[in-house]
Amino acid sequence: MLSPIPFSFESKFDSILKTHLVSKISESLSAYENPSFLAGFIWPKDFSKEQILDLKANFQQNLTSELSKALHSIPDFQNPVTSIYIDFTLNQITFHIQPVYIFGHYKKFSRTITQTFPYCFHCKGQSCRLCNFTGREPCESVQEIIAEPAQNLFQSNDNKFHGAGREDQDVRMLGNGRAFVLELIDPQKRSMDLSKLEQEINSKNQNKVEVIRLQYCLKAKIAEIKEAKFSKIYLAEVTGVKPFVKEKLLSLKNQTFELNQATPQRVQYRRAELIRKKRIKVLDIVPKTDCVFEIKLEAEAGAYIKEFISSDQNRTKPSLAELLNNVCDCTALDVLEIIEN
Ligand SMILES: [Zn+2]
Repeated sequence: MLSPIPFSFESKFDSILKTHLVSKISESLSAYENPSFLAGFIWPKDFSKEQILDLKANFQQNLTSELSKALHSIPDFQNPVTSIYIDFTLNQITFHIQPVYIFGHYKKFSRTITQTFPYCFHCKGQSCRLCNFTGREPCESVQEIIAEPAQNLFQSNDNKFHGAGREDQDVRMLGNGRAFVLELIDPQKRSMDLSKLEQEINSKNQNKVEVIRLQYCLKAKIAEIKEAKFSKIYLAEVTGVKPFVKEKLLSLKNQTFELNQATPQRVQYRRAELIRKKRIKVLDIVPKTDCVFEIKLEAEAGAYIKEFISSDQNRTKPSLAELLNNVCDCTALDVLEIIEN
């Protein structure tokens, strides 16, 4: 956030005060691209209704039109990029700059990159001995790979990353990628060439992360991608502790299963405990060795694939472990496609 700036005010709403405010505000916003603005006022408490009506009709109107000239910006009462709050009770001006929202899809080709900033598991970002007082795990994240060059380009000091769901760190995200919105906080620039940003991210992160079809969007896009429920196609490598019975294994092909999945033990700390009913279809089975096969699945949004394989100690039913009468482990997993209708 832009820090609030103090101003001097001696209960005199005159042209000196107006000039003083206009210069303070233009100075603070000089680095910002400012296509539209709205000035809001908190008037002194001890003024009468009549006095305030008069201030609104005269002082406020004149100040707004002088700001418009000084900032080269249009007043906008509906959806201003810059909101300026002038508070005569605290003698302070605060600003709110609309974030820039960038919509795109990302692919992830690595099994060591997290989706969002990897806060330290122990201190949750507070900094502790275990993370060497960095507050983070030592791995990279899709969020940082995309946001760092974006923040530099837009001169923004912070960001939020909104993904349309997420995959685990060890899962690759292939196909057409996963939708996301990057929110850039307090950006000084707002109209940069996104194809250049796309090129920069992709050339620096080959074999790690790729972004496609970056475009500007509105805030509403975040809710839209968060609410969307898309089926996915996965490719999993399954390893058993003993050889699989080949006929049994191949008979799974083209079968559809209705799963009852209790909340996986590995996410119990952040998900409500409930039974989810999810449909999974087996598209293909390819044996690799006696004890290893690849399985291609189409799964309803929100199905837990690793647990469908292992059974998660019978918390998912049916499971491949149960169907194949073997102890099964998911030893590699890729999202091949998110089916956006
Ligand atoms: Zn820590």
